[in-house]
Amino acid sequence: MDACQTVDADVEKILAKYKKYGPKWQFQLNRYISTLERLKKEIESQSSKPDVFELSSTILQMKLAIKDMSNEHRRWHSDVSRIGKSIDKNFVIDYTEASNRKAFKTDYEKKLLNKIICVHLYRDSKWDVAEEFLKEAGIIVDYRHKQRYLHLNHIVDSLRRNDPKPAFEWVQQNKTHLDAKKSDLEFKLHQIVFLNILNRGDQYEAVLYARTNFSKFVDKQKEIQSTMGMLLYPPNIGQMRTEVIDLFIKDSCLSDDDLLNVSVNVGCSALPSLLDIKQAMCRDVGGVWNENDELPIKIDTGFAYHSVFACPILRTRSGESNPPMMLVCGHVISKDALNKLERSGRLKCPYCPKEQLPSEARILHF
Ligand SMILES: [Zn+2]
Repeated sequence: MDACQTVDADVEKILAKYKKYGPKWQFQLNRYISTLERLKKEIESQSSKPDVFELSSTILQMKLAIKDMSNEHRRWHSDVSRIGKSIDKNFVIDYTEASNRKAFKTDYEKKLLNKIICVHLYRDSKWDVAEEFLKEAGIIVDYRHKQRYLHLNHIVDSLRRNDPKPAFEWVQQNKTHLDAKKSDLEFKLHQIVFLNILNRGDQYEAVLYARTNFSKFVDKQKEIQSTMGMLLYPPNIGQMRTEVIDLFIKDSCLSDDDLLNVSVNVGCSALPSLLDIKQAMCRDVGGVWNENDELPIKIDTGFAYHSVFACPILRTRSGESNPPMMLVCGHVISKDALNKLERSGRLKCPYCPKEQLPSEARILHF
């Protein structure tokens, strides 16, 4: 950011100078042109003797002015090229020191990266680009990926066209998953249908639809009440439709499984800190972060992703023989810690006092 501001200040300086350049010379040139035109008329009319002295002095002044103008113009070249130097000075061109050279060394890793790029393109409905990319990269991606995103994007498009039918079908197919996360999607879809009927001006049919479809949402008394209030005060249906689309995108995980997007965002947030370390250490530090899977410093990227788990009880790093275990209450400790805390076949969570069976804990995979 500092680099952008420095370059921006340099550009502003030149622009300020440039703004003065035009009007200054325009004024002088106009003055010479009108003097020359007057003298030309005088010569042509032959009514009076032309003032030779005025004519030669104007021509001399003009020659000097044009020389000054071209000199000033030449100085512009050096000013503009200084911006290029300012960009080179303030921005790092070579990011190789901040990259992990081992990350994409093998063919397997390169293929994995290409697959992630392809899935990202599918997710964004860039079907043609994805197919071309697959061809050029020489890889094959499981067709189910494409099918899944085709299907999800078709549902989003249908919702935009005010057709909730495919979304209802998807809700029925994924009912268990949606119920487990207490999703409001089905209720909101019914709400949209209710509003569509209301929008057509058919209040009786809207009430009938509400009676048939809202009765199963026993835990949504308040929401049903406010929906019925819409009979009197119809809301902005466009805004509600956008909310339903956003909810569908969230519940179908269209929003949070874009690995490439997340990786690029994390990388961009971490890059300035990595480059600062490089500058502070003033030497090739690439090796420092290439040796391990961990970065040499803690970088707050705004994303909480952990590829490594350190047990909060034993303060040891988890591994294959000592994996992280999630307790029933949601707290996570290592398997070794779990074994140590077990007392006669039972376990008390060290964070909340919940008692549970050690066998109820589940292995977490990062
Ligand atoms: Zn707990």
